[in-house]
Amino acid sequence: MQLLKDRINKDGKIKEGNVLKVDSFLNHQIDIELLEEIGKEFKRRFEGEEITKILTIEASGIAIACIAAKYFNVPVLFAKKSKTKNIAGEVYTSKVESFTHGKVYDIMVSKEFLLKEDKVLILDDFLANGQALLGLSKLVEDAGATVVGAGIVIEKGFQVGGELIRKQGIHLESLAIIEKMSVEDGVTYR
Ligand code: 5GP
Repeated sequence: MQLLKDRINKDGKIKEGNVLKVDSFLNHQIDIELLEEIGKEFKRRFEGEEITKILTIEASGIAIACIAAKYFNVPVLFAKKSKTKNIAGEVYTSKVESFTHGKVYDIMVSKEFLLKEDKVLILDDFLANGQALLGLSKLVEDAGATVVGAGIVIEKGFQVGGELIRKQGIHLESLAIIEKMSVEDGVTYR
């Protein structure tokens, strides 16, 4: 998606440890016009698929999912990062190792909102090692629901996540795939 790549080139900041900061338009301050274009693009890429729910993870996935959901006309469910241990029974949970913080945390969704009939599109801002997407798809599987696909705004193609997810047979659409990035040379796309 050229508009997104242009914006990353203009405003993205490359940090140590293979982290791209997009705080001025996606992760902190949010450019809603850009998100609307992102939402339309996800809709185009998953055209013809039956989708009943969009699933994402708090916090940065929520805005993306909410605006995309306008074009799919479905509700958004976001997995909560949970600190409470004793919640088994009413929720589906899985573990996610955070790329940016290096910690393992639990995510959960209420069983009330994820049903076996659901056809789920998973959306997130970044794909790095794939742990967030795998954790989210486990929630869907545990519910007996179906993962229709996964949409990512920025995939870091030099990390293992993309391959991992595609190998699982999940229909993955990334709007910008970064081949390599460095402070000296900037970002190169696939
Ligand atoms: P994964 O689970 O695929 O290893 O990492 C994806 C998650 O980590 C995303 O939900 C995102 O919040 C965060 N993340 C991974 N890489 C980056 C990055 O380069 N920049 C930012 N801002 N977040 C990232």
